[in-house]
Amino acid sequence: MTGPVVVAYGMGVDSTALLIGLSQEGIMPDLILFADTGDEKPATYAYLPVISAWLARVGFPPVTVVKNPRPKSGDQSLSDSCLRLGTLPALAYGKHQCSLVWKIAPQVAFLKAWPRAQEARATSQLVTVLIGYDNGPRDTCRRYRAEDKAMAGCVNAFPLIAWGWDRAECKRQITRAGLPLPVKSACFHCPASKPAEIIALRDTTPHLYAKAIQMERTARAKGLRRIAGLGRRFSWESVAAQMSLLPAMGESEAA
Ligand code: SF4
Repeated sequence: MTGPVVVAYGMGVDSTALLIGLSQEGIMPDLILFADTGDEKPATYAYLPVISAWLARVGFPPVTVVKNPRPKSGDQSLSDSCLRLGTLPALAYGKHQCSLVWKIAPQVAFLKAWPRAQEARATSQLVTVLIGYDNGPRDTCRRYRAEDKAMAGCVNAFPLIAWGWDRAECKRQITRAGLPLPVKSACFHCPASKPAEIIALRDTTPHLYAKAIQMERTARAKGLRRIAGLGRRFSWESVAAQMSLLPAMGESEAA
């Protein structure tokens, strides 16, 4: 007997390609879950109506947005929580609690209360959770770790790997479906951001960059010691300062 099928949707390239592949295969998911940390990039939020229109066109269910409302503290986002506590997202310390609390926990809570999952449990069926890991070497390694980490009553599956779709193929499929390419899905302050992404954030969304710098300064004022800032070994503030200097240095050297 087959249980319900859930797409863990990140609103990035891979999981968008996953939806397209499912439509091509004639596999209709029962639920498409997106966990909102409250700190997604504006371009990610802007993609929601785009993908929603496509989902309606192909007859798929709409995206269900889940969030960790943190009712006790009132924090509406991971960054609010960091600012209140004077800390930084756990990934800056080499840990994963930020995604466990703000990404995984809201999905687990939703699935626990979801009637289809309860029905599946009552009839000893498993919920299949489809994860958009692509067929590249990095995601193939992540797949082996994720296989053993399915939520209770669920089994994880990785269709992109089964179809042999690497990232380039995922992009091709999205374009072929007539959709724009989504941006990398992550919090605007994600410690995994590369220097070029930090500078792009500063130049395109200065208010979000300012909030990230405020997070670093607040954490420092509260005694941040073990790490330098959001970049773990470096602060984002120092990256922006160094990158701003580079063109001027280049010009003076050329002169
Ligand atoms: S995107 Fe980065 S900061 Fe946000 S929850 Fe995931 S690991 Fe943490």
